[in-house]
Amino acid sequence: MFWSGELIARTAPVRRRAAPYPARSALLDRGIAAYSGLAIGDALGATVEFLTPNEIRHQIGVHADITGGGWLRLKAGQVTDDTTMSLALGESILASGGVDAKAAAEAFDAWMRAKPVDIGNTVRRNLISFRKTGHPEAAASEHDAGNGAAMRVLPVALACYGKAAELTVSACRAQAHVTHHNALSDAACETLAFMVQDFLAGRDPIEVERERAFKLVSDYPVFAYDKKRRENPSGFVVDTMQAVLQSFFATETFEDCLIDIVNRGGDADTTGAIAGMLAGARYGTGSIPRRWLKAVDEKISARCTEQATALLALGESVSSQPTAPM
Ligand code: MN
Ligand code: MN
Repeated sequence: MFWSGELIARTAPVRRRAAPYPARSALLDRGIAAYSGLAIGDALGATVEFLTPNEIRHQIGVHADITGGGWLRLKAGQVTDDTTMSLALGESILASGGVDAKAAAEAFDAWMRAKPVDIGNTVRRNLISFRKTGHPEAAASEHDAGNGAAMRVLPVALACYGKAAELTVSACRAQAHVTHHNALSDAACETLAFMVQDFLAGRDPIEVERERAFKLVSDYPVFAYDKKRRENPSGFVVDTMQAVLQSFFATETFEDCLIDIVNRGGDADTTGAIAGMLAGARYGTGSIPRRWLKAVDEKISARCTEQATALLALGESVSSQPTAPM
């Protein structure tokens, strides 16, 4: 495996964007914030993963600092599979110049061989089957509706930014189906990728909720979320999305959103990672508390920043068409 310095050099030089893109610096800032947000939410949430809100209250009070620990006994600032699988996918996209299922499967396989700190059951099972068959698409299964593909979708959203919507959809599926070949997982991945792209473009959150979240719920009513605070979200992608969307659209700062979502417990590193990705894209780097930016493992932070930059540059080098509305 090689890392970003080399890969950035391989991408074509950045060309100037025309309207309706935000200024280059704002776009890049939001892309970097999305990747940092993912890592921060993962590191923050991992401490309270699988706890209930009551257990969190009794043990910590309000969980608001990146302290490590948790069932994985992490160092403060250490991230888990949500971030490291995203980074593995991003590297494969940069190395192959696009989203390629086989390259993604090989990257995930290499990631698994390196003994990650945590790994989902569906991910493990379907990567083992990829090793046997060499086929990078898992069999479709109604049972594989975990959040494991949705949690790592960010590099796809960045690489496909500014390209046709169909490309985002097919790229989401190519990466997701390596381990999760499931319609609910697909719907979640696509919704999240489009939302990230909307926020990168500076769209109003009310419009984004109306277009993307309402479409998700109208296509798959099981995702319906309301004002009721959903606690203890499981790893089922519907539970995850309901908690994240409800929290994200009910809060108005990066910090409030992340504190709210991780203190709901359950699969808190993953809800934290997904909420952090959306909130970073929406609010930008200036909104991220310094104590969290400084707390995340430095090497991971650097890779997130480099990859966000390189993935956005990859998109720009291929097309200058804005993302088509759904
Ligand atoms: Mn994790
Ligand atoms: Mn998790």
